[in-house]
Amino acid sequence: AEWTPETGWADARVVPYGPLSLDPATAVLHYAQEIFEGLKAYRHADDSVWCFRPEDNAERMQRSAHRLALPELPTDWFTGSIEALVAADAAWVPSGEETSLYLRPFMFASEAFLGVRPSQHVTYSVIASPAGAYFPGGLKPVDIWLSEEYSRAGAGGTGAAKCGGNYASSLLPQQEATRNGCQQVAFLDSVEHRWVEELGGMNLYFVQADGSIVTPELSGSILEGITRSSIITLAADLGHDVVERRVSIDEWRDGVADGTITEVFACGTAAVVTPVGRLKWDGGEAVSADGDAGKVTHEIRSALVDIQYGRAEDRHGWMTRVA
Ligand code: PMP
Repeated sequence: AEWTPETGWADARVVPYGPLSLDPATAVLHYAQEIFEGLKAYRHADDSVWCFRPEDNAERMQRSAHRLALPELPTDWFTGSIEALVAADAAWVPSGEETSLYLRPFMFASEAFLGVRPSQHVTYSVIASPAGAYFPGGLKPVDIWLSEEYSRAGAGGTGAAKCGGNYASSLLPQQEATRNGCQQVAFLDSVEHRWVEELGGMNLYFVQADGSIVTPELSGSILEGITRSSIITLAADLGHDVVERRVSIDEWRDGVADGTITEVFACGTAAVVTPVGRLKWDGGEAVSADGDAGKVTHEIRSALVDIQYGRAEDRHGWMTRVA
């Protein structure tokens, strides 16, 4: 779909996948005025197809749009675009265990000009791509590299928005993580370099020895993950005390070493819930899971995945049927 101030949103259509043709002066190529979302469609045993909390993705995209001076896309345009795409060929949604159709809605500044101002032509599009199981051989802990030199986002910046620029700034630290044998990078706040924010593409949870579960509070510079928010609800359903507060990097390192923290896990749409194995930094490491995930991590993951695949009752009205 295309937007201009005169027409508003118009021209919604489903087209075959293929390259875009862009003028070299297209604003997004120069000023990164771009936002995106990520969500999945799941095939249930009766062959119906469902999305998990799509309205929450729509609302987050609206918040991102506001921060990036992009036009608001109404929630029914967002959900309608997904329904139209899945309806074009529901066979795109795979049926294997823990497979899904990954959906990537995105919006970008498509006006061609060279000044710095919000674009007066904006394009919204959705890519659909079948996704295999994230952990085909069973859950495996991920190792995490602590980025001590670089932050992902600062106060007043775009950290809470899902915009391409945030990921551009996390690529170098992510490369450093890979060089150090880790799959993900962990970021701290940009002022004190002390408070744990999130990973390159996931939010974090810490299970305490007393059974309570702690997740870093929304600082204004971390992404408000939809998986994160679902776990706050589900963990409470399962009888855990869930606390959103600041967590220092020392609390993580020391807690894992002295046993006050019994499990660490990360969460996001792609992996749902993944155990954290070790936290590594320049000159040391703290190991929280050697091999398998902990009991609480398993419990929370199963509770969420069972709702997504229609194996457990959707008590919070999170699933929307799309085909
Ligand atoms: N933080 C970042 C930086 C992310 O890219 C993601 C993935 N969208 C998340 C957290 C998790 O968000 P969600 O649960 O909505 O996928």
